[in-house]
Amino acid sequence: MDGKSLSRSLWAFHLNTGSCNGCDIEIVAALTPRYDVERFGIKLVGTPRHADALFVTGPVTRTMEKRVKRIYNQIPDPKVVMVIGNCGSTGGVFYESYNLVGPVDRIIPVDVYVPGCPPRPEAIIQGVVKLWEKLEKKRRKR
Ligand code: SF4
Repeated sequence: MDGKSLSRSLWAFHLNTGSCNGCDIEIVAALTPRYDVERFGIKLVGTPRHADALFVTGPVTRTMEKRVKRIYNQIPDPKVVMVIGNCGSTGGVFYESYNLVGPVDRIIPVDVYVPGCPPRPEAIIQGVVKLWEKLEKKRRKR
């Protein structure tokens, strides 16, 4: 984090694009009291219009393609995207499955990948720190 404090909290919208729910449960673990990322100002919001970041889990099924694009476009600029789990990053165990259009970076730009099947909450928190730094850089450029 290069020793500087981050200037604002990070609000995120979570989108499941066909995940088995394993990655989603790890996001819940990161949010709930054991890891409690809300103490750093990180919280999930109910609409992409209030978000700074998009958290994506799952490999992107055909039915989710339009929704991924629409939700990405609804997030105000500057915005950042983090893919959580192998499925969204590479297709994972569903790679080249007939009903997929993913991985996520075939549909929208991705800033941070958190590998794992599923990744642990510590890895998600590390990914959020990287994401936060990227968002701050984008804000400074404006
Ligand atoms: S990466 Fe693993 S845990 Fe996450 S959605 Fe894919 S199969 Fe499930």
